Amino acid sequence: MIRDLNLRILPQEAASESYLRKAALRELGIDPRQLGGIRVVRRSIDARQRQVMVNVTLRAYVDEPMAEADYQSINYQNVEGKPQAIVVGAGPAGLFAALRLIELGLRPIVLERGKDVHQRKRDIARISREHTVDPESNYSFGEGGAGAYSDGKLYTRSKKRGSVEKILNVLCQHGASTSILVDAHPHIGTDRLPRVIENIRTTIIDCGGEVHFQTRVTDLIIENGVVRGVQAERVASEEVMQEMAYMGPVILATGHSARDVYRMMYGKGLSIEAKGIAVGVRLEHPSHLIDQIQYHSRDGRGQWLPAAEYSYVQQVQDRGVYSFCMCPGGFVVPAATGPEQVVVNGMSPSNRGSKWSNSGMVVELHPDDISSDIPEDMRNTPLAMMAYQEQLERLCWQQGGYRQTAPAQRMHDFVNNRLSYDLPASSYAPGIISSPLHFWMPPFVVSRLQEGFRIFGRRSKGFLTNEAIVIGVETRTSAPVRMRRDAETLQLLNIKGLYPCGEGAGYAGGIVSAAIDGERCAEACATTLSLT
Ligand SMILES: Cc1cc2nc3c(=O)[nH]c(=O)nc-3n(C[C@H](O)[C@H](O)[C@H](O)COP(=O)(O)OP(=O)(O)OC[C@H]3O[C@@H](n4cnc5c(N)ncnc54)[C@H](O)[C@@H]3O)c2cc1C
Repeated sequence: MIRDLNLRILPQEAASESYLRKAALRELGIDPRQLGGIRVVRRSIDARQRQVMVNVTLRAYVDEPMAEADYQSINYQNVEGKPQAIVVGAGPAGLFAALRLIELGLRPIVLERGKDVHQRKRDIARISREHTVDPESNYSFGEGGAGAYSDGKLYTRSKKRGSVEKILNVLCQHGASTSILVDAHPHIGTDRLPRVIENIRTTIIDCGGEVHFQTRVTDLIIENGVVRGVQAERVASEEVMQEMAYMGPVILATGHSARDVYRMMYGKGLSIEAKGIAVGVRLEHPSHLIDQIQYHSRDGRGQWLPAAEYSYVQQVQDRGVYSFCMCPGGFVVPAATGPEQVVVNGMSPSNRGSKWSNSGMVVELHPDDISSDIPEDMRNTPLAMMAYQEQLERLCWQQGGYRQTAPAQRMHDFVNNRLSYDLPASSYAPGIISSPLHFWMPPFVVSRLQEGFRIFGRRSKGFLTNEAIVIGVETRTSAPVRMRRDAETLQLLNIKGLYPCGEGAGYAGGIVSAAIDGERCAEACATTLSLT
């Protein structure tokens, strides 16, 4: 017999296997010899009261042995010789589309402009060391997409529990810790993600699919209103540029930073539109301060609790101001994808052990909010929000001294329109430079952020402090463009054979939702293929 027990216990009790075993015996009122084993199946921290508690759901196996497998695995079939589909982009959306195609008996051909996940690491290190951004290999481009050197937070607002569970199980099958099936806020960590991504690639290739790196898709091959394939070029610098065509229906999962793809689609008159985004700064506190605030204790997290998280949201002057992609015990990273840009983002390792905790602090923007801020020829076009992002990122690069150095300001100084005379140490490896962000960032964003920070500071004593800094700019929170697709077939409106997919298409925000959309697009593609 299997029994699930709900316990509300102290952090040190939740960390003790022997305590959990005794608690199970007590709750069940059984003889120890009857207990075949226990497994934690759900765990969440409740830090709302002064005494932090942990809610644990414990699965107890009574009069039977504990089940072996703690995740469900999929038997991927061989798809050699099967009809092929092209997947552009090896981010979470593209990789999960490829795996799902295999499940459905189709052969995925994955085309990725960047390098494999290990080679990519060197280019990422160069951004901080040499202040050079390789436009094909960086924090957003390369195997694993923006998800690879990310935080690996896996919680999502998606209500499709079944789909979320499936994605988490596939990640476990490819090497992620099974704790992601247990924790209410699952997290893999940037140090562990590359191995998982590499294992997914091995599955795709072992099943007869193909994965091509340094292969940038430059055009769609369209005949009579149907996308027949893509034109691509090899981008390895040591090789002669080589053009190639890959034929088949196309799942386009190129992420929100592939501005050349948006431009190509706009140039072809395809069905895309400007989409609202959120823009702001990265806010970085010493992590012990966030621990003290969130866990209501001068001792901070102590021995048994993880680095604390927070989440803030507030309507200010008719727009949402909110924290985004919070990275407890993490690092602020340079997330530019090309020259003359400074863009920041955040990540954390699996142990969340750095001295800092950061989050994006952003203001919601609608296309109508920015029309006068961008060049006239971009106004009211599908690329208007992208132009706004580009303009702000360039301005930030100029303020940072024309390098990857990021302009920064102490939080209290930012709120009070004061330049910071010095800055505390920061996790941002390329370096920070004191700058009046309140002065040069768009007033629409600044006034709302300042008001938001005041409100968050009143809500949590100690949060609004000059020990924290704001770092510019956070612009890549979501896609600035939506590719309009048919709600049923998921193909781009007015054209067949093209499946816009994931975050870049405007249908996902985050690793798990991008992966879910990848699966959906693969299913839609398979359905259409079986009908033709
Ligand atoms: C630093 C950082 C930290 C993050 N942390 C988290 C987190 O903790 N949790 C979370 O849920 N989300 C996080 N995100 C966001 C998350 O990574 C994205 O939402 C997710 O990766 C989107 O998946 P995607 O597959 O749609 O697009 P992407 O991951 O952007 O992948 C798109 C891929 O397409 C490739 N590509 C682009 N153009 C072309 C072309 N023309 N030809 C061939 N290939 C092309 C790119 O190289 C890229 O690999 C983070 C993002 C960053 C940058």
